[in-house]
Amino acid sequence: MLLFLCLSLPLGAVTPRLYNELPPSLQHFKEKVERQASLYPEIFFLQALDGERRVALTFDDGPGPLTPLILDVLKKYQIKATFFVLGERVQTYPEVVERMIEEGHVIGNHTYSHPDLRNLSPLEMYEEEVVPTSTLIGDITGYYPILLRPPYGAIEDEAILFLGEKGWRIINWSIDTFDWDREQNSSEEILEKIEAYHHEGAIILMHDGGSRSTLEVLPHLIMSLKREGYCFCTVDRLLDLSPYLYMED
Ligand code: ZN
Repeated sequence: MLLFLCLSLPLGAVTPRLYNELPPSLQHFKEKVERQASLYPEIFFLQALDGERRVALTFDDGPGPLTPLILDVLKKYQIKATFFVLGERVQTYPEVVERMIEEGHVIGNHTYSHPDLRNLSPLEMYEEEVVPTSTLIGDITGYYPILLRPPYGAIEDEAILFLGEKGWRIINWSIDTFDWDREQNSSEEILEKIEAYHHEGAIILMHDGGSRSTLEVLPHLIMSLKREGYCFCTVDRLLDLSPYLYMED
């Protein structure tokens, strides 16, 4: 009977989860995104589940002054990453957005003005924050992103389904480096999180719209993951999704 029970469990099954140990104040967030990833496995993602030894580096809140320096590091190590950009910053740094595409990175949508999407109806979210941002990116690059990272990773189920029906996919993360958090974002602390939580199929959250710690730690973080045998790819490849609605010639 015991043997039968063991064999009846799916072998190697992995449930999507947020790997960080978090303070009590973030437990509710963790439970919510893990529930959403389990409930909407075709639309809402925390990680890849295919067991490949690959990770995706993702950078939020740019482009900004730090972004070209991050791009230099990625170029040096020949790594392709995913940038979830803000519409209002795209307007300020269109040449950086062009450079991302030229150098083989993927661009996702992080809304126009970084609101908490839970305060908007799905239609308001879509028309005021999501569409204008991808339209701007499309005008600059010829690529119209359909991967969304919600600000703070926070989005209601209703909005997930609304976007899913329109062909959008929502990309959260499985490892938060906390490079956004002034109280725990030294290079050493960021690296410690990677070394503690790395896993196959990880989506790693960082910020090119943030502090210099992100820039300083990036080469060390890349080397650490390489030593562990990981390859780096963009989130669309990690998850086998289309990143763009259309591409112009
Ligand atoms: Zn953000």
